[in-house]
Amino acid sequence: MIYLDYQATTPLAPEAREAMLAWLGGPESESFGNPHSPHRMGRMAAAAVEVAREQVASLFPSGGQVIFTGSATEALNLAIRGNAAVRSGEHIAFSAIEHAAVIDTVKAIGNWTELPVNADGLVTPDVAMPQYVGLMCVMAVNNEIGTIQPIGELASRAKETGALLLVDGVQAAGRMALPPEADMIAVSAHKIHGPKGIGALWVRDGLKLIPNIEGGKQEAGLRSGTLSPALCAGFGAAAALAVERMDQDRVHIEELWQVAREAFSGWTLNGSAEQRWHGNLNIRRDGLDVARLMSDCREVMFSAGSACASGSGRTSHVLRAIGLDDAEAKSSIRLGWGRYTTREDMQRACSIILEAADSQG
Ligand code: PLP
Repeated sequence: MIYLDYQATTPLAPEAREAMLAWLGGPESESFGNPHSPHRMGRMAAAAVEVAREQVASLFPSGGQVIFTGSATEALNLAIRGNAAVRSGEHIAFSAIEHAAVIDTVKAIGNWTELPVNADGLVTPDVAMPQYVGLMCVMAVNNEIGTIQPIGELASRAKETGALLLVDGVQAAGRMALPPEADMIAVSAHKIHGPKGIGALWVRDGLKLIPNIEGGKQEAGLRSGTLSPALCAGFGAAAALAVERMDQDRVHIEELWQVAREAFSGWTLNGSAEQRWHGNLNIRRDGLDVARLMSDCREVMFSAGSACASGSGRTSHVLRAIGLDDAEAKSSIRLGWGRYTTREDMQRACSIILEAADSQG
């Protein structure tokens, strides 16, 4: 099987797996302590969590605090629901191509304004934004079309209106520097070769949030619940590795982009080619039957739209936001690759997909 769905999730790095094994804690071990217990085993586990927190912090700008959560979805919920401006009824502005974790949370609780994107999939810095916005949510890299938003310029717009800036950094973390202009940034371990079941919210120093989950007051009182040292250790190791290998990974991913772009040169690219993470290719071909293509290419794991939307029968809100009609959106596929994708895998996957697409006439 060839895995080309890196925006949905990524394989666990061997280094992260190794770090986790040390904290899975059988009865003969000393590594199953509750990191919130004051005794020696508890303190050992707490020390491992703090090492991991430092490693995860290396993904973020300086001047903030890392709060571990169960996922990026939970981190985004904490940032949005825990925000005082939101609670006092101010508007939340979000880009039209945010992940459902942002859009559905915002729509469930508050007054909102959707910021449109252009045909390239970018929020333009001169986008109209009401004065009464208290929180602006813009993702760094889109999960469906890979476009990279001009966060620096959008942060200036947020500051003009006195709004806080929440950045969904899930697809950017470990691949590029996260924006120092943000007030809060959410990330997920499983998108950077760490384990599933853990994410984090970075909160700028001095910013006060209100917890969503009450209980034992772990994570500075913002996220109650016992942490898993194994998940933290895996996340930490994955983050450290991503930072260490960032340039090397980027060169490799760029080489694979060239292979894929050339192979699919006759197809239309969805979203900007330049302002884009080059580990994502979202492309379409007129009349393509994507369901049939996927069933004809069982050896290749790829996606039709985002992993969340695929299977739901809904057309992607991201593809609609960049101006695609229903037929264009439904004839689009997403390929995503990364550190462990080989050139041979990429070449083979491209020829399998092209052959199957050509057989549709
Ligand atoms: N934001 C983006 C851009 C994503 O791609 C995802 C996952 O698909 C999420 C948020 C949610 O992350 P998690 O799976 O950790 O809840």
